[in-house]
Amino acid sequence: MDLTLDHTQALIQKMAREYATRVIAPEASAIDRESRFPTSILKGLAELGLMAVGVSPELGGSGAGTVAYALAMQEVARACASTAVTMAVTNMVGEVIAAFGTDAQKARYNPKLASGEYAAGAFALSEPGAGSDPGVMATTARRDGDAWVIDGQKQWITSGAHAGVMVVWARTGDRETFPGTRGVSCFLVESGTPGLLIGKAEDKMGIRGSNTVSLTFDACRVPESALLGELHGGFKIAMMALDGGRIGISSQAIGIARAALAESVQYAHDRKQFDKPIASFQATQWKLADMVTELDAAHLLTMRAAWLKDNGRPFSREASMAKVFATEMANRICNKAVQIHGGYGYIREFAAERHLRDVRVTMIYEGTSEIQRIVIARSALG
Ligand SMILES: Cc1cc2nc3c(=O)[nH]c(=O)nc-3n(C[C@H](O)[C@H](O)[C@H](O)COP(=O)(O)OP(=O)(O)OC[C@H]3O[C@@H](n4cnc5c(N)ncnc54)[C@H](O)[C@@H]3O)c2cc1C
Repeated sequence: MDLTLDHTQALIQKMAREYATRVIAPEASAIDRESRFPTSILKGLAELGLMAVGVSPELGGSGAGTVAYALAMQEVARACASTAVTMAVTNMVGEVIAAFGTDAQKARYNPKLASGEYAAGAFALSEPGAGSDPGVMATTARRDGDAWVIDGQKQWITSGAHAGVMVVWARTGDRETFPGTRGVSCFLVESGTPGLLIGKAEDKMGIRGSNTVSLTFDACRVPESALLGELHGGFKIAMMALDGGRIGISSQAIGIARAALAESVQYAHDRKQFDKPIASFQATQWKLADMVTELDAAHLLTMRAAWLKDNGRPFSREASMAKVFATEMANRICNKAVQIHGGYGYIREFAAERHLRDVRVTMIYEGTSEIQRIVIARSALG
């Protein structure tokens, strides 16, 4: 594995860093405080090609691959975790459509997702009763003439109220013939489709600028052409998308942790107790040393998973390893950052408090830490 960045990867990283520092970071605290969906910032990201980093240029994307995408995510998340998760899901939706869509589906949706004509895309897999175990999904889609009729409920859907198009999973086969995940198919549902009802936004602990809603499908009719991929082949699509998505969430966690580390270093130099900067105490230095080391390890695991994906190699186990390690280390780092800030880490005046709230969810979504360990253990046990 060669970790030297090629010209495109370095360019994407630089561009994302510049935009994140100049435009996103100054807004991040207000986005959090006001629970404000970052519409104009997302448009700017789209103009830079960052809403479809892995999608080919023919479909409006940057065609820069997963390493570039992971680097861009880290930069955006360093500035604002809410913006980063919205970017992550939109990239994932674009990649899914590009990989499994018909020519007509790709032509209809990919350019709009990439260009920002759609503020975001959404990925609707989870349900009130089906989280870690999507096999118990209750949403159904039944054929009616030349249409599909979707009924059911989805839960926790990122950008659900803002997405131009959603990838929606529904059961198309009866449970007896198609047990578990075998009778599940995937559909593309456009915003505003009659029968698609958007629930109220969740009042979250962190990533408060991202939009998280429930969706109700009440006899929601979509054309036959809305089926994405093969009939009953939806679970495979979900798993492939989530493998890639885990690289995105690892990168989000790394970005948040980098911000927490940088602010901790600054604070440790500035804050004096016992007539000395707290940076001079070994207790602070050891915390910082662990933070730097763990961050590097998480970055390397994430780059390896991204590199494998870019090179067409299996990367599912490596993506899970990156996700569980990066998200758990980022939680440790953000917690240490609050500790280094003392009482000031516990109030909104300093960003350490926001980072700790934002980072918590990275161990939950795109598969909890426990689910990642199941994937890794399965592979370890052969
Ligand atoms: C802010 C936010 C945004 C989200 N965005 C999206 C989105 O855009 N699209 C989408 O489809 N979903 C989304 N999700 C849903 C997310 O993926 C789920 O919350 C997650 O998969 C866990 O499902 P659950 O919440 O139902 O928890 P459960 O599956 O009920 O799990 C509860 C606990 O039990 C543990 N557990 C479950 N099964 C096992 C097992 N076999 N072994 C050991 N432990 C187990 C879990 O790890 C967890 O600790 C989002 C969630 C949040 C909070």
